[in-house]
This record gives sequence, C-alpha cells and structure tokens, in this order.
Amino acid sequence: MNSQKVGILGGGQLGRMMVEAASRLNLQVVILDAPEDAPAKQIESTQAHIGGTFNDADKIRELASQVDVLTVEIEHVNADVLAELEQKGHKVHPSSQTIKTIQDKFVQKEHLVSHGVPVADFMETLTQDAVAEAGRKFGYPFMLKSKTMAYDGKGNFVVKTASDIEPAMAALSKTPLYAEKWAPFTKELAVMVVRRANGEVRSYPVVETIHKNSICHLVICPAQVDGTVLARAQQVAENAIKSFPGAGVFGVEMFVLADGSILLNEIAPRPHNSGHYTIEACETSQYENHMRAILDMPLGSTDMKVPASIMVNILGSSDSMEECYRPCKEALLVDGATIHLYGKKGCRAGRKMGHITVVGESMMQVQQRLKPILNAIEPGVD
Ligand code: ATP
Ligand code: MG
Ligand code: MG
Repeated sequence: MNSQKVGILGGGQLGRMMVEAASRLNLQVVILDAPEDAPAKQIESTQAHIGGTFNDADKIRELASQVDVLTVEIEHVNADVLAELEQKGHKVHPSSQTIKTIQDKFVQKEHLVSHGVPVADFMETLTQDAVAEAGRKFGYPFMLKSKTMAYDGKGNFVVKTASDIEPAMAALSKTPLYAEKWAPFTKELAVMVVRRANGEVRSYPVVETIHKNSICHLVICPAQVDGTVLARAQQVAENAIKSFPGAGVFGVEMFVLADGSILLNEIAPRPHNSGHYTIEACETSQYENHMRAILDMPLGSTDMKVPASIMVNILGSSDSMEECYRPCKEALLVDGATIHLYGKKGCRAGRKMGHITVVGESMMQVQQRLKPILNAIEPGVD
C-alpha cells in the first residue's frame, strides 16, 4: 500500500489511535516515548520501539534514522532537532517551523494575527508591572497564560482582581507568561482540519466542546448552533490552517461570542481530543487522514456517516481503574456506543484513561443513549 515507515514522537492515546488507523493500511510505525508499555507501543508489535523522551535530541535522531516520515502526537517536542533533520532531508510533518510556532502560544497568536485570524486581545507580560498593565488594558477578569508546555488548562490562571497577580505569577512561575483578554463565550467550538503538503485542506464538521475543570468532558457533533456560525467557524479554522506549512491533522479550538462572532483560542498541530468522534462518526477518521496526509496519499472524506454523535472522556478520579470501568460496563449495554480504553497503567485524578463515543439517528437519540453512561461517571448528573 505504502512502504514508507512512520515515526511518531510520543506514544500516548493519540499515538495509539494513529497506530490503529495505520494498521488497517498495513503501515509500520515506530514510537519514541519513555515508557516501554506506552499506549501506542502496546498495539504495534511489528517494530522495536525506542525508549526515551520526545525532547531528547539523540533519541529523535535515532528515530529519524529508522523511518521515512516523522510526525508528532504532542506539540511539546524538541522542534530544533526536527528542523536540523529537515535540513538534512528528512521528512517531518507537520513542518518543524509549524510545530515551533504553535508550541509557543504567544508566537502562535502573533502568527494568527498576522494572517488575519480573529483572536482575543493579548499582550506579553514579562514582569509583574506588565501583568498589572494587562489588567488596566483588558479589565478584570483576564487570563494569564503560560506561553509553552500548557495542557488541560494547567498553564492558565484566571486573574479576577489585581490582588490575584502575585499568586498567579507564583503558580505559573515555570514558563514565560502572556495575558489574554477575557473571551465572554457562549459556547466553545472545535474543528479538525487536515492539510496536505501541497496546501489542500479539508475540514471536519464543527463540534461543540464542553469542559469540566478545564479538561474536555463532552464533544457534541454536529455543534447545535446556528448555520451561519457553523460556516464562520469552519472558515476561520480553514484559513488558520492554510497559513501553516506541512501536512497533517490540526485541532482548532474556538470561542463563539453572544453576537455570533468567532475567536480562535488555540491550535494543536496533531489529531485532537475533540476529533476522537471521527472514528465512529465520519467517513475517514482524523487518525487515518493524518496518516494519509503525512504520506502524501489522497485525503479521505471528512463528512459524517451518521446524523449525530457525542463523545465523553473517561478521566481517572482516583488511583482505582474500577471507576473508569463503570461507564464502560454501562456502555456495553448501549446501542451505538464504542468504548476506547488506552491501556494506561497508572490511574490518577484527571488523567485521560479512555473515551466512549455514542452515535445515533438523531441528537435526541444520542442524548438518551448517553444518559446511563454519564450517570455511571457521575451519578445524578448528566
Ligand atoms: P488544552 O488541553 O486544550 O491544550 P490548554 O491548557 O492549552 O488546553 P487553553 O485551551 O488555552 O488551555 O484554555 C483552556 C480553557 O480555558 C479553554 O478551553 C476555555 O474554556 C478557557 N479559556 C482559555 N482562554 C480563555 C480566554 N481568553 N477567556 C475565557 N476563557 C478562556
Ligand atoms: Mg493547549
Ligand atoms: Mg485548549
């Protein structure tokens, strides 16, 4: 089918689902990650994987020497080594430049503004005085954010009053910071966009994402919003991704404001949690289209093949896996439900352990089907 071997920096659940898609196409994948039993390594037995971090220059070079194309399942990788490898003729998708721009949220926002993409006002805040200046400029509350290494809201602090400035800076002391004006959103939307190296882009339907404690909880597809807003969100997402060189799937997170306008929140240069639903609900999953894109194969259709779907994340709540199995056992009894467990050994509060996607003939049917599963996650709440 395609004799090129793929190397992935990172072996978590996104890598695991890339491997699932790759295996159907009989593609071989080598994983670089520290744990020997990383989720992606567990299900690819045709290769000897590499143990080490996705920041380790030598390990990345070792991976490059064994494969034809490098890609990532996480953006917090050593992009300088990827640039060096590109210089030497290795294929890296998305390009190292794209990963470098996106991995610093401040640089990412500057890039987006320079390409006419709407984002919340933001400013660099290297000192405490600059953070106070952000409060005067943007008003309170505003968001103080880590420029790098952020995920699941861990690099963010909501600054509600001037007295929060010191604790906010103390809490986010590990990386340089910038400030963002508060986006008074009515909903959060996301669009997965796949891009071929020749610039062709295709976008998936617009989804609504519902977060709990800054971690994605539900992904509803199609988003239950006005058609004009859907079209606008898709356009913003496609325009943004057209501006980044290289191939692959990108997750684009957006805010909808009360007047229906869209602000782009952030981009992930890889398959994304808000695109898990594409495995069961779309004609080609984000994972398969990522493989097709980085290998320069024709892209598959991004259309839905069912009328409606909702995905719910299974998060660890304690160190016991039993609590994660409860909604999965419930899902075994639900028509249209597909269970994904990632094979992670350590269960911790807030850790993404798996997800369940429910599809159906209508959004109402999907909501009904989901009820017992949500109830098993959190009794009495849905
Ligand atoms: P992810 O896990 O998606 O990578 P992250 O740690 O990079 O998350 P963000 O996406 O920047 O964090 O923010 C997390 C959440 O915080 C957003 O989904 C949104 O709910 C809220 N948020 C972020 N920026 C703003 C803003 N400027 N105004 C209001 N809410 C915001
Ligand atoms: Mg992020
Ligand atoms: Mg985010």
